Amino acid sequence: MGQLKLENACKSFGTVDVIRDVNLDVQDGEFCVFVGPSGCGKSTLLRMIAGLEDISSGDILIDGQVVNAVPPSQREIAMVFQSYALYPHLNVRDNMGLGLKQAGHPKAQIAEAVKRAGDMLDLAKYLDRRPGELSGGQRQRVAIGRAIVRKPKLFLFDEPLSNLDAALRVQTRIEIANLHRELGATMVYVTHDQVEAMTLADRIVVLRDGRIEQVGAPMELYNNPANEFVAGFIGSPK
Ligand code: ADP
Ligand code: MG
Repeated sequence: MGQLKLENACKSFGTVDVIRDVNLDVQDGEFCVFVGPSGCGKSTLLRMIAGLEDISSGDILIDGQVVNAVPPSQREIAMVFQSYALYPHLNVRDNMGLGLKQAGHPKAQIAEAVKRAGDMLDLAKYLDRRPGELSGGQRQRVAIGRAIVRKPKLFLFDEPLSNLDAALRVQTRIEIANLHRELGATMVYVTHDQVEAMTLADRIVVLRDGRIEQVGAPMELYNNPANEFVAGFIGSPK
């Protein structure tokens, strides 16, 4: 299970309202993409879901349980960042296995989980290398692998492809789509790339100034954008 619900979610930094009354239901197994201009609150919303930022008011529910006060490590969520956030001194195997090791899992179980993720992401040959010895695309696959081994209910991706060149972006995007199919996990994915949103999403959430402007299936938004703003992101030219 990995059902996510946001109820009247708000976030302020000081007197600045960054997330304003967001209501959203993400179904178990759904691929939900957040789009919107820089500064509209996409990363903040993801960080609130992950528990890396406190919610100012409203509720975040996972599988029906309010998790507002649950620490990140206990939310069964894995987050993949634009910047990979790998440990440079650890090899690929240890980077991927670290979360399980810290959670006290037995060595054999960690090795098995890392092997499976490595095979899935075509990293089997690189398990003994350090991040500095890998390409950007391989590093991002390690970061994705690290998320997979923890078997989270919910994957959060914050513009994971934006540091990759065009060809790798396409390839990694396809891998993420395959992963979603194989794992059947719920994924919430932030991007400002229209093609990524259109090809990956079951539903797209368009954000503007911390509010939801429109939610719908890609073709729904494409054909029937609620306004010029949505049309500018997703819609067909009018
Ligand atoms: P996005 O990811 O859509 O580009 P962010 O969620 O990073 O947007 O930021 C949304 C707004 O919140 C921006 O105006 C940003 O300056 C502000 N913001 C984000 N984090 C903080 C913080 N820790 N303190 C103060 N303001 C913040
Ligand atoms: Mg951001």
